[in-house]
Amino acid sequence: MRYLSTRGDATPRQFCDILLEGLAPDGGLYLPAHYPQISAARVAALRQTYAREGYAALAFEILSLYIDDIPADDLRAICAKTYTAQVFGSPAIVPVRPLEGVLHIEALSNGPTLAFKDMAMQLLGHLFEYELARRGEQLNILGATSGDTGSAAEYAMRGKKGVRVFMTSPHGRMSPFQQAQMFSLQDENIHNIAIEGVFDDCQDIVKAVSNDLEFKRRYKIGTVNSINWARLLAQVVYYFAGYFQATSSEGEKVSFTVPSGNFGNICAGHVARMMGLPIAKLVVATNENDVLDEFFRTGIYRVRGSSDTHETSSPSMDISKASNFERFVFDLLGRDGAATRALFGQALSQQGFFDLSADPRFQDAASRYGFASGKSTHADRLATIQDCWQRLGQMIDTHTADGVKVARAHLGAEPMVVLETALPIKFAATIEEALGRLPERPPQFNGIEDLPKRVQVMPADAQQVKDYIARHCA
Ligand SMILES: *Cc1c(COP(=O)(O)O)cnc(C)c1O
Repeated sequence: MRYLSTRGDATPRQFCDILLEGLAPDGGLYLPAHYPQISAARVAALRQTYAREGYAALAFEILSLYIDDIPADDLRAICAKTYTAQVFGSPAIVPVRPLEGVLHIEALSNGPTLAFKDMAMQLLGHLFEYELARRGEQLNILGATSGDTGSAAEYAMRGKKGVRVFMTSPHGRMSPFQQAQMFSLQDENIHNIAIEGVFDDCQDIVKAVSNDLEFKRRYKIGTVNSINWARLLAQVVYYFAGYFQATSSEGEKVSFTVPSGNFGNICAGHVARMMGLPIAKLVVATNENDVLDEFFRTGIYRVRGSSDTHETSSPSMDISKASNFERFVFDLLGRDGAATRALFGQALSQQGFFDLSADPRFQDAASRYGFASGKSTHADRLATIQDCWQRLGQMIDTHTADGVKVARAHLGAEPMVVLETALPIKFAATIEEALGRLPERPPQFNGIEDLPKRVQVMPADAQQVKDYIARHCA
């Protein structure tokens, strides 16, 4: 499989060439040159693979369609090490449970940090360690987090050879649970840097360090953000696993609703659908930060300023722009790199929006690609959490509640699977607001707030962060 950029650069690259990279050199995102097609007979065979051999074997089958520069036995071993019942809490890895009527919930949040980002990040940890060892190289991952991404990255990279993580976060602004999750890690290769400032200060520092090309080269600085193709690819697998659990034969269709921010999770659903998985609808659920809902309703994609970006009770969806969205638009425009560049490279930087409302390809988006959308607010979230708990006996987190709220407006005859992207314990304050009680805590997290913390507090100063990295890369 060869990979190309959404902005037209077609230099042939293989999977491992782009594994450790972020953006393509022309500023675009990487996509495979084509989507491998899976026939109905092959889907039926994969159903058997998942039932008989489990999630890791299914993951190997899907990944190997996109990865031909890792020997099959090595890739199989990497999948087997990653997707274990011990790490993800059950042999199904992503168990689907009924909620009500056609509504189902697929649990993607039973990994080490209790959010769906573990599904991809755990695989990335093993892939990075493998590829760095093969090249005899090292990588220093520098990131900024306000919660889920940073902890998923740290739990994926802890103890991995050849990798160090330097994760900045806004000092005192994460929930006590999230702080405890990250700061209690005692691994030598994990460095928590609490910045005296807000999340934007952390992001500015990461940008400033990455823009110092000499420093970046010298200290082998990399990232693990959500535009990484390997993360997206790992997520394709659980759409297959969700389909198999919600249906019993290949004649059936399924719809998915996905709590969305950067469009990474649902973009994997788009890829699965393009491969031929029988998906009826892909419903994008946003919170008050409704950039994506606005696009799918109107055809206008408008990036928000920071004063226009709301802090909500589903904080992992608080985005001003959807960084993976360019991948879908590239497909929508018939994979025209020049047209994609004109929208994302020029229109967005010059006027802050683009408008496809008059384009027939946008008007066909729902019928050709199955997309639909909706939005949920704080009041919707509370009401949905209350309804699911009081009437249906299931406690769901705030992001999943946005999904359930929006899914209910798009129900058809087929099963509707809502992706559960986090467990309630991660957002306990809002659960308490909704239900007047705290969520249950998985036993392995008892008392983590009392563990010793490993964190360095620093002013919002890129130079001090650089000095810290230099001192710890000796
Ligand atoms: C990251 C995250 C999301 C949003 O996922 P995207 O891939 O950015 O759309 C939703 N819910 C939770 C809990 C998350 O951590």
